[in-house]
Amino acid sequence: MMKDMDTYFERLYDQNQPQYAMPRERNQACWENWRESWQKALKSDLASFPAQYGELNARTISEVKRKEFRQQLVVFDGEEGMQIPAYLLIPNDLVKPAPAIIAVAGHGAGMTEIAGLTPQHEVRDLGEGYQKDFAAVLCMKGFVVLVPEMLGFGMRRFEEDKQKSASQSSCFRMSMNLLMMGKTMAGVRVRDVMRSIDYLQSLPMVKGDQIGAMGISGGGTTLMYTAALDERLKATVISGAACTYRDSILKIFHCSDNFVPQVYGHGEMCDVLGLCLPRPLFLEAGRDDDIFPLCGVKSCYEALHKAYQIWDAEDRVELDVFEGGHQIHGGRSYEFLQKWLKK
Ligand SMILES: [Zn+2]
Repeated sequence: MMKDMDTYFERLYDQNQPQYAMPRERNQACWENWRESWQKALKSDLASFPAQYGELNARTISEVKRKEFRQQLVVFDGEEGMQIPAYLLIPNDLVKPAPAIIAVAGHGAGMTEIAGLTPQHEVRDLGEGYQKDFAAVLCMKGFVVLVPEMLGFGMRRFEEDKQKSASQSSCFRMSMNLLMMGKTMAGVRVRDVMRSIDYLQSLPMVKGDQIGAMGISGGGTTLMYTAALDERLKATVISGAACTYRDSILKIFHCSDNFVPQVYGHGEMCDVLGLCLPRPLFLEAGRDDDIFPLCGVKSCYEALHKAYQIWDAEDRVELDVFEGGHQIHGGRSYEFLQKWLKK
């Protein structure tokens, strides 16, 4: 008796036939049609995109010279009434325009947690926690790195959550509020990352056509959608997030910020990520990640690899499965960004 409901939902998953499944053959016209209609549907699923933005109105709030790099706290305008704070990390030896990375944190204390800072914005030793300060590490590898604060984390939380603890997100109430208004948290974060690309492209120190991105967990999910929709991202690393909806989001408890009405009926994660093709895409996954199971990661990657192969771009898609759980691995993924953005 108790298994009836499991059976019912399994049947729903089985019956799901994504409307925008990736084409399986090499046909330019078919592929372009697919991309155009799927991007349009995905943007509509994510909702939340304002008709137009005003000026960036970017300003620098503070600057700190650290041993490893220069760090600026900046802020620029998103949609009306929304300001996006971010850390800009600048290599010490920067003399000419450099490639840039947008680094997006997963759940935790927000942007400080990947930039080698305490939640109180004080400098600390690098490498702590599951996110291993990958933004700081990428800067030390010569990239200009922008770390935007995502809605619901760190500085961009409701006051009631700020008073609880540094890692208490505002995800639940914000996501539910947005859903009630026909918007989604994923969509708001995606358009804030798009706005972050606008900001990077406005900086003389950045090579505007060599911008990539790296994110983990919730940050990886945000980048999955952004890379699918914004071709200005020339190479993307998604750590601990790419899987199948069926094996992760639908089967295991996940934060409310993951839920996008309609999207499952439109495409699986491989179909979302297929929109990146032929741009370079790197996935990393811990063998023991218990919220993005390896079986789903592998099935997602296999579908992507097949598609890249069809288009003679198989050197542009990689998967790194490492020993460990839900965390940044680095190494190969850092090299991948260097290879594709520093040509
Ligand atoms: Zn969340």
